[in-house]
Amino acid sequence: MTGTIAGEVQGRAVRNGRELFDRWYAELSDAHAAGEQAAYVFVMGSLAELLRVFGLHIVFPEINSLQLAVKKVADAYLSEAEDHGFSPDVCGYVKADYALQMRGGEHPRGRIPPPAVAVLTSACNTYIKWAEIWERLYGTPVFTLDVPGSRSANGVSADADGLERDRRYVAHQLHELIELLERVSGRRFDVDRLREAMSWTNEMGRGYRRALELNARAPSAFDAVLEGTMYLGVANALRGTAAGARYFAELVEELEGRHAAGLTGAGGAEEKHRLIFVGVPCYPIFSRFHQMFTAWGGAFVGSSYLWFASGGLDLDFEYDVGRPIESLADGVLRGVRRATDAMLFHDRLLLEAIDRFGADGVVYHPVKSCRTVSTGLADSRRVVLESRDVLALYIESDMMDRRVVSEAQLKNRIDAFFEGLESRKLRRGAAAAGG
Ligand code: SF4
Repeated sequence: MTGTIAGEVQGRAVRNGRELFDRWYAELSDAHAAGEQAAYVFVMGSLAELLRVFGLHIVFPEINSLQLAVKKVADAYLSEAEDHGFSPDVCGYVKADYALQMRGGEHPRGRIPPPAVAVLTSACNTYIKWAEIWERLYGTPVFTLDVPGSRSANGVSADADGLERDRRYVAHQLHELIELLERVSGRRFDVDRLREAMSWTNEMGRGYRRALELNARAPSAFDAVLEGTMYLGVANALRGTAAGARYFAELVEELEGRHAAGLTGAGGAEEKHRLIFVGVPCYPIFSRFHQMFTAWGGAFVGSSYLWFASGGLDLDFEYDVGRPIESLADGVLRGVRRATDAMLFHDRLLLEAIDRFGADGVVYHPVKSCRTVSTGLADSRRVVLESRDVLALYIESDMMDRRVVSEAQLKNRIDAFFEGLESRKLRRGAAAAGG
């Protein structure tokens, strides 16, 4: 069944997402020109709500780096960093950002201001070494929030007492961070501004989760790799803002409209195979990479990227603005833990997702640049194949480094995967017909 939805609604999220992103980069360029302060943060635990209280511009170096790959200029930045002694094995995001700093913040989307402060979590060990670069270059004060991880492979924390101790441990660190931010920005902490930002995140989270949920039904409402990556960018960049909350409310309206009209995501292509993507997309050839799947009727109904890089928005959790610091601690603890569980125990999350989304296949995409998200994927595939009747594809490339992306090889593997999915469908159809 297919239908239509109002023209101004269909495609609005992509149009608005582009505009919001352009505006965000324009604001960063203005901040650079005016010498205004910026906080450098990461997607796994950005604490954006708290930073907004102090009027700091928020810079996501990971997003800047991936945008260099999308804009097809990452190679020059990577080579520049390697000429300065960085190994080819180092995370490509770090190297691209280092070269960007060497170029005075030059980026195809604007000019990035240098960091007045860096706030990171222990979600990825590279974050810690990355921030040391800014410390050395600019003398930037660095705050590392130590977030205790899950205590077992089931992704559950310790007992209730242990969870409460972890929350208090994180809340204590947040008080220290507030003192640092007051010193850096010269502004007093305003708890009402924090409450307001947290309320916007609550609203945004409701929309984010509703969007993910809409893909459980067939046909899916959006493509989790192509469109989902844009939603994720907005979720991070505009977390804790009215504009971010509005974006997701409008997104849900559009996706519900698509769903009611029987339209699929990404331009209404036919959905023959429902897939779940694991890892980070291949940004150097982003749209061609995606087309290799859609050409066969492959639709990404879910993506682990939308779980681990969403700062916990995928979790059924809302801040309690009556207890802002405690609740912020709770949120960052759950969000970072969810991110690390989504990377370290993906098999459990994947089994759940395969059942919920009715997936036919899982596409694993380990990348050379990021060992954090790529480690253990081969074991995860084994567990998934033993536990569920799905096919799995395992393809390696990179999210930054064009030198290790072999398009011909990727296409061969992807084509063979779909041939397997199609012949399996034919066999099943024949068996059902008694043939
Ligand atoms: S290693 Fe991976 S998770 Fe860590 S900073 Fe690099 S890309 Fe991000």
